[in-house]
Amino acid sequence: YAAKTSGNEAVVYAPAIDKSSQESLSLLTELRRAAEENQFRLYVQPKVRLGTGQVIGVEALVRWVHPERGMVFPDQFIPFAEKTGFIRILTQWMLERSAALCSELAAGGIRLRISANLSTRDLLDQDLPMKFMAILDRHSLHPSSFCLEITESAIMDDPVRAQQTLERLHAIGVDLSIDDFGTGYSSLAYLKRLPVHELKIDKSFVLKMESDVDDTKIVRSTIDLGHNMGLKVVAEGIETVAAWELLEKMGCDEGQGYFISRPMPADQLRAWLHAWQPPHFLAEQASLQAG
Ligand code: C2E
Ligand code: MG
Ligand code: MG
Ligand code: MG
Repeated sequence: YAAKTSGNEAVVYAPAIDKSSQESLSLLTELRRAAEENQFRLYVQPKVRLGTGQVIGVEALVRWVHPERGMVFPDQFIPFAEKTGFIRILTQWMLERSAALCSELAAGGIRLRISANLSTRDLLDQDLPMKFMAILDRHSLHPSSFCLEITESAIMDDPVRAQQTLERLHAIGVDLSIDDFGTGYSSLAYLKRLPVHELKIDKSFVLKMESDVDDTKIVRSTIDLGHNMGLKVVAEGIETVAAWELLEKMGCDEGQGYFISRPMPADQLRAWLHAWQPPHFLAEQASLQAG
């Protein structure tokens, strides 16, 4: 066992703990290097209006292209980045890159709204609203070009401070969304007080909808709940045309998923938008309605 001194106390570390803290240390070092060496990539996934197929925005999703390990997905490093506080650097980078993309697109006549993800630590960062305003300024963007997504569980970690940050972001004029709705433990009484505009149904329910009637019921009631609270309702995880049709029938406003597009590198978005065609059933519905 190795002994280390911290303050006046001699602390004894078991080898297993020592090993994992060393691994953590090296992951943090790697993340810092990744930021310095531009290993993070901005990926985007289109978000469409379910009634028309019109693309109204994209969700910004981070990818880490590691020199040896290749593509690393956010689930493998976001929780760690969150724990160590590195997430603030990452969030800053994502907001900056998303803002750059949004203003590039606008310059080419394409108006799309960016949805970016925040985590618990971001909500506890008192300076976040100010930093975000500075980014908008730098790219001459209106706050309404952004929607910020916060998971239910991030809000419930520290509801009081989360609410303060959300109020301030709302005051700036940015729209707010509750991500992964249905998977956390939020109280509806609490949600009612938050200045949010949108509710995103977690993909776990949407993915199982076609095979499990209970999931269909959950999705249907979430859509109604959101609408009754005056919120826009978005579904993630639309993998089939059948899921799209069902969600549209249930009145869900917007959606994203592999059926529409997988997340892609930001520089492929223009070509994708050019090639995008809404599914056939929407055109049929429209012509039926027209008589
Ligand atoms: P999320 O915000 O709920 O993002 C949606 C996730 O669902 C994305 O996973 C997306 O690729 C995936 N997805 C979308 N449509 C489908 C589908 O039809 N089928 C399936 N199976 N999956 C679909 P991704 O990109 O791996 O991100 C995972 C999570 O990591 C995100 O969940 C978000 O919580 C977090 N994350 C990603 N980028 C960032 C970021 O820049 N900052 C923060 N704080 N978190 C991020
Ligand atoms: Mg999200
Ligand atoms: Mg989600
Ligand atoms: Mg998720």
